[in-house]
Amino acid sequence: MQAKKPPPASKKTTLHITLPLLPGSLSTARSTCGKPNCACKAKPPRLHGPYYRWTGFLKGKRTTKTLSAAQARECRRRIANYRTLEKQIHQLVVQAFQEAPWNES
Ligand SMILES: [Zn+2]
Repeated sequence: MQAKKPPPASKKTTLHITLPLLPGSLSTARSTCGKPNCACKAKPPRLHGPYYRWTGFLKGKRTTKTLSAAQARECRRRIANYRTLEKQIHQLVVQAFQEAPWNES
């Protein structure tokens, strides 16, 4: 019987998370309307908008919220914070697989 290497000791790590967070994504759109002589039908067209939308999952359901420009700015800031957190978690997961028990010799 060969002596087995003991599993590595548990250790703690710290994530530096900037709050507030918001999952999801932002999109903007410009559009035409139904009025026949509106500027949005001119050549070149002057479209309505921009309209800002947040899309993400709320209680497991894909949801879209229409936002003001100020709300969109705030969402963008929070989404960036969330993506930074996701990247950190991703890095930890990559490391976890590199150090997985089946990789120990
Ligand atoms: Zn129009």
